[in-house]
Amino acid sequence: MFDSKNPQRTPISELGEFGLIDRLVKNAKSKLPNTAFAMGDDAGLIDQGEYFTAITTDLLVEGVHFDLSYMPLKHLGYKSVIVNLSDVYAMNGTAEHITVGIAVSNRFPVEAIEEVYEGIHLACEHYNVDLIGGDTTASSSGLMISITATGRVRKENATMRSGAKDNDLIVVSGDVGGAYMGLQILEREKQVFIENPDMQPELGGHEYILERQLKPEARKDIIDLLHKLEVQPTSMIDVSDGLSSEILHLSKASSHQFNIYENKIPIDPSIYALCEEFNLNTTTVGLNGGEDYELLFTIGIEDHDKIKANPNLSVIGYVKEGSGANLITRDDKVVELKAQGFKHHEG
Ligand code: ADP
Ligand code: MG
Repeated sequence: MFDSKNPQRTPISELGEFGLIDRLVKNAKSKLPNTAFAMGDDAGLIDQGEYFTAITTDLLVEGVHFDLSYMPLKHLGYKSVIVNLSDVYAMNGTAEHITVGIAVSNRFPVEAIEEVYEGIHLACEHYNVDLIGGDTTASSSGLMISITATGRVRKENATMRSGAKDNDLIVVSGDVGGAYMGLQILEREKQVFIENPDMQPELGGHEYILERQLKPEARKDIIDLLHKLEVQPTSMIDVSDGLSSEILHLSKASSHQFNIYENKIPIDPSIYALCEEFNLNTTTVGLNGGEDYELLFTIGIEDHDKIKANPNLSVIGYVKEGSGANLITRDDKVVELKAQGFKHHEG
């Protein structure tokens, strides 16, 4: 307990986001027999007898997760739904319902909030999800949107972060790094505008990565595809914080070593030239750029034939007994993966 007479003050930065969460929930004990899984995966699971209900929450805060100088309100509404549905799909489930909590300061007219809701409704339409409630309140500092999504998962299909096993293949959908590069373009044009408000932003030619940042999609299509191909992933997570960070989550939860090949990381061709322009390393962007909302999963080697021809899926590496995660570089060096950046092994 925080005692104001005897204050012990640990800076949050000392723990980091995941350290803070661990500390907050370390004494939580589930009491109910139908709590099938609590904390530590993309969604919690409630046992409903025949199936699981998956529940997940994500909070988006102005100035932290979005900047309204370039994020259109409708896109913001859309994205705030997507980031939640993505976590339901990461359990191999079907998203069904959402509730929306929204805090607004009085600088927003009603029409602005309506625009946010246009995006929310559109996402519900596209993903066959129903909005069933929420909460609305005033905010003294900016806009906040907290969405909770629920979904249904057949018990035998539920995919945790923890099931990867020896010799499994590591697969990622779509491509990574695009949303981050989209953000770089938006930030650059914002600076140009601040310095010279008469300048028009130069966004042409960057449609793909801008869409990745401003209008991401959740990979329901991949869940449907895996079902159709009769592929049951052994572990799965969605790529919200960056490939590297998510690989480490799977590795830790599964207590296995993850090895990925630098030359297998799927990166959109448009990103290569842009990385040069921004003086960024493409691999670093692919590993650490977040917000792509792709699915990262492992499959048994026997399922390789079922997925190998699919252009939406890239096999990027393999699982071994052990711990941690490695990047095998283009010149065959083994580099330990870190959540942010990567460091070379000595010797
Ligand atoms: P994701 O990126 O999939 O949304 P997070 O990294 O936000 O997951 O959270 C990691 C895990 O910690 C999840 O299982 C989440 O439910 C749980 N979690 C995060 N914040 C809290 C909190 N304040 N209280 C309880 N559980 C939390
Ligand atoms: Mg997630």
